[in-house]
This record gives sequence, structure tokens and C-alpha cells, in this order.
Amino acid sequence: MAKNFDPRKIRIHQSYEVGEVAEILGASEQTVRRWISNGLPVLSFKRPVLILGFELKQYLEDVQAKPKRNAALGAIMCMSCRKHQMPFGLLADYIPTSDTNGRLMTLCGTCESVCVRFTSKASLPALSTVLEITQMPRDEPNGTTQPPAKT
Ligand SMILES: [Zn+2]
Repeated sequence: MAKNFDPRKIRIHQSYEVGEVAEILGASEQTVRRWISNGLPVLSFKRPVLILGFELKQYLEDVQAKPKRNAALGAIMCMSCRKHQMPFGLLADYIPTSDTNGRLMTLCGTCESVCVRFTSKASLPALSTVLEITQMPRDEPNGTTQPPAKT
């Protein structure tokens, strides 16, 4: 079982190199690099790789609160934050647009803007391990039910 690291040791307004993170948290650099490959955001993949304190803190809190869940899986692109964010309350609505595809609608967990992500129905079981997904009725072109056509 993975060891827990204390997110309170991280200062949110600071950015860290991999080695600094390892030292502060008492983790190995290998562990920190694994977090990055598992979805911990970094400023740049060029060296030195810089990790923002608040993202590291959020990542640790997310991962350690739900150790069996993949935090990056449910992330959704927020146009207001201009980056991937976890949905507010880990809640999402799935609105089918066809038999195989649909949209996930969520609120950004950071700024609460509405975020939309296109997804396939086939990916819902995996997403459901992270998000609480509500199945919505299929989207009608006008958003309303059409009255019967006159003939
Ligand atoms: Zn946002």
C-alpha cells in the first residue's frame, strides 16, 4: 500500500522541482515522477520540471482521499481556468447525442463554470469509477420535444 504524504507541507504559492518535492515530503524522486505520469500537472516537461504547489497539494489530497481512484481520469477541460480541472463534487451529467456518444456536463471544481466534454458511451464505466454520473435523456436538436408535425 502506498505511503501517505502530508499535503500540508506544501506551500500553495510556491513551485517546486521534483527533487524538492521528494525532500519536503520524504518521498523518492521516482515516486514524484510517478505522480507526474499519473496526472500530476507540471509547468513544463523541460528541465527543471516545475510543479506548482497548489496543484501538488490538490493532487495529493485527491489521490490520498480516494486511493483506488484515478484522479486524472475524470478531469475535464475548463475554458475559464484554461486547464483540466476535477468536476465540482465529482458530479457529471451524461447527455447522449447518439447511441454511442454523448456529452459530459459538469461544473468546474475550481471556478464553477460549466464545462463540457465529449465522450463515448463506452468510456462511462471507467469514468464512473471517479465521477458520479447521472444519465440524462437524449438531447433533442432544439432542446425541446417537437410537437407532432401537421400533415
Ligand atoms: Zn474552471
